[in-house]
Parts: sequence; C-alpha cells; structure tokens
Amino acid sequence: MEDITLVWLRRDLRLDDQAALYYALKNERNVLPLFIFDTTILNLLDSKEDRRVDFIYQVLSDLKEDLDKLASALLVEYGDPIRTFKKLFSQFRIKAIYTNHDYEPKAIFRDEQVKKLAEENDISFKSFKDQCIFEKQEVVKDDGSPYSVFTPYSRKWKARLNEFYIKSYPCKKYYRNLYKGDNFEFPSLASLGFEKTDVSFEKFSLSKTLIQTYHQTRDFPALPGTSRVSVHLRFGTVSIRKLVAYAAVYNETYLNELIWRDFYMMILYHYPNVVNHAFKTDYDHILWRNNEEDFKAWCEGKTGYPIVDAGMRELNATGFMHNRVRMITASFLIKHLLIDWRWGEAYFATKLNDYDLSANNGGWQWAASTGCDAVPYFRIFNPAEQAKRFDPERIYIKKWVQEIDTPAYPQPIVEHQFARQRALDTYKQALANK
Ligand code: FAD
Repeated sequence: MEDITLVWLRRDLRLDDQAALYYALKNERNVLPLFIFDTTILNLLDSKEDRRVDFIYQVLSDLKEDLDKLASALLVEYGDPIRTFKKLFSQFRIKAIYTNHDYEPKAIFRDEQVKKLAEENDISFKSFKDQCIFEKQEVVKDDGSPYSVFTPYSRKWKARLNEFYIKSYPCKKYYRNLYKGDNFEFPSLASLGFEKTDVSFEKFSLSKTLIQTYHQTRDFPALPGTSRVSVHLRFGTVSIRKLVAYAAVYNETYLNELIWRDFYMMILYHYPNVVNHAFKTDYDHILWRNNEEDFKAWCEGKTGYPIVDAGMRELNATGFMHNRVRMITASFLIKHLLIDWRWGEAYFATKLNDYDLSANNGGWQWAASTGCDAVPYFRIFNPAEQAKRFDPERIYIKKWVQEIDTPAYPQPIVEHQFARQRALDTYKQALANK
C-alpha cells in the first residue's frame, strides 16, 4: 500500500481554489479528501432535523460524485476527531494531513490535539489560511496590537489588499495527484442520526446586477437585495477570494460587509473571551430581567411587534433572517425585553443555516452595545419606525405574519416608550456599578 496524504475538509467544502487541497496536491501524491462528521458537535444539536447537517451532507454527496468522475474518492467518517484519526492511522499508511486554519477557540484546541497526535505518529500536520483574506497579525495596528474598531481596521485591510491575496489556488492543475482507487462507503443521513430537511444545496452564483445595486437594496427585507452567500461562506462552498475580487471591482459597500466578516473572525481569534463575556467588560454587570415567557414569545414571533415577529418567523421557517431584521430582533430582545444577549445568541445558533460563532457573537454584542465597535447603549431601535422605513408597504411583514390585521394577532408585549426608558435606566445603573 502506498502512502496517502489526507486533506481534512471542514469549512472549505470545495475542490477548487482551496488552499489546503492545493498545497497537498502540489506537494504530495495520493491525496485523499476526508470529512469527519464530528460527534462532539453533532451531539450538541437538539433536533434530528438540522438544516446545516443536511446541507453538509448534500455538499459531500456532490463532492463524492465529482471525485468519482476523477476516478478518485472521498473518505467520510463519523466520530470524534481524535478517535477517528487514531483509527485511520492504523488503517492506512498516512504521510501527512493538510487542513485549513480555523479561528474558533474550540477548533484551535482540537487542531492542536490532532497535530500532536499526528506528530507522535510521524505524520506531518500542515494548516493554511483559506477562510478569510487576512488573519492573525496580518492586519493589526502599527504597534502590533489587534484593532477593535472597524473603520481603521477596514482602512488598513483595504490598503493591504493586492492581487496576491485574492489570486485563486488552481487545484485542478494537480488533480493527477488525487488518490486513485475505489470509493469508500458513503454513510446515509439516517446512519448519522439525522433526517432530511427542506434545505437544498445549489451551487452559488453571483448576480452582477445585485452586487452593483447592493448599497441601495440591502436594507429592505422584502427585496431580494442581498447576496445570500452566507451559508456558502460558512461551509466553504464558495471561495472568499473570488467574492472579494468581485466585490472590489463592483461595489465597495459589499466589500465592506465581507471585511466585517474578517473583522469579527479576528476579534474572536484575538479575544476568545467574547464567547461568554461582553467585549467591554463594564457591560457584564447589566441586571437582565430574563423573563422566560417573554423569551418564548420572542422565539415564536408573538411579541405583537410586527417586524420583530416577521423576522423570528422567517428564521424559524427557513433558517435565514435578513440582516436588517437580525439587528431589529436582537435589539428588541436585549433592550425592550432586557433579556441577556447570550440567550438570543444561543437561539440564533440553533436556527441559523449560516450560523458562525464569530459573526453571530459580533452581531449580538453589537446590538447589546457590549461589543467592540457596537451601537451606543442609548441608541434603541424603535421597531415601528424601523418597519416604516425598511418595509413601508408591509410586504415582508405580511409574508411572515399572515394574521397581522386580525384580532388573532397579539397585543404588544411591552409598550415602546416604557421599555426604552427601562433599558436606559438599567444600562446606566450597570455602568455606574462597574
Ligand atoms: P450580504 O448582505 O449579501 O453580505 C455578504 C456577506 O458579507 C455575508 O454573507 C457575510 O458573510 C458578510 N457579512 C455581512 N454582514 C456581516 C456582519 N454584520 N458581520 C459579519 N459578516 C457580515 N452572519 C453570519 O454569516 N452568520 C451568523 O451567525 C450571523 N449572525 C448574526 C447575528 C446578528 C444579531 C446580526 C445582527 C448579524 C449576524 N450575521 C451573521 C451577519 C449578517 O446578518 C449575515 O451575514 C447576512 O444577513 C447574511 O445574508 P447575505 O449573505 O445575503 O448577506
């Protein structure tokens, strides 16, 4: 048996313009892509119908077909990564493991453990930058410390950007070095403990018109005015380099949104404490009401605030919510209901197809005014005004809250002016007690 090199796929589920795959194919022979359905993650999911798992499953089925056509194979495993690698080390003669960096604290820890195990077995472990444009120390202040404010970060990010950072990795050129042989058994979704959902994976394609008009349409949830690329970026079914190359030419507002993504990834990397704490620690002293019934009404989209309810129902029904509405629903939960932002963050994490720890945490801490570059605490969205401005014809609201103009629609859970004042008082008090 010849030595093989594994390319461990995680958030990079594609066969072209993929850094780890490219370097493995260029440097090694017998390159076999591997995906592990990680039980340490799957066991935390509370439903058997999880759109993310189904999405990954469909993408892998696609990759397997593509690899079949190349007379190669995809190895799919189920288990915790350490045990899985131990098993694979006894099953194959493995020369190296190639993978791409992940910046989440748990993933960093996992990768350190796997690297250690690999090296103990004389197997090299190599990791590359793939999921963002700039990482770690690449965009930092002149004194080497990380940025915590977006605008100067984005300025330096743009100044640094050149062809080198967005050129694509031409994996195809080296496909001859893919592992050749029979395909391995491909598990069924049921054997992984999950069921089919309504999600359907389609390859992402970008509309030039949409990107060109993005700055005019992106805030209106009734319009198809945003790119809907988030789930693809989450799982790597599109390359960030391709998107940035496109955005840099056609629309600066769109480019800025992609930079926010890098920004939050690096906030999480440099400040892993944000996972459970306010970035601005003074805000860790807010006395939340945390009323369970209010929380339930918010989750179910029954607050009596139409734009909030429409958003929550869109999320529950589809796994997606428009960005403007994410900001409104998050702000409402935190400031109108005085519920800990971590409750909302956790709820979004269970529901969002594009759930990403860094962007979700960043978004929630922004809305809670606890974040690095957040909305000031005294700026409190008025949901009715937001609806008037961004859904003036009530098209989005009527789509998701069909009983809106009937007696079946609930009365507002709390009065706006009262809630606003209560939030201001609570925040002020927390800051006074710091
Ligand atoms: P577009 O408007 O077309 O933007 C293109 C891409 O830019 C997005 O796909 C995303 O990758 C990036 N982007 C845009 N806005 C942001 C932002 N504020 N922060 C980071 N990246 C951004 N995004 C996630 O990908 N996963 C999450 O879990 C997530 N949770 C959020 C929670 C809250 C409370 C808020 C306010 C925002 C959250 N976002 C999250 C950011 C944003 O809402 C989504 O990225 C966006 O709605 C996805 O739709 P789109 O692809 O059509 O976006």
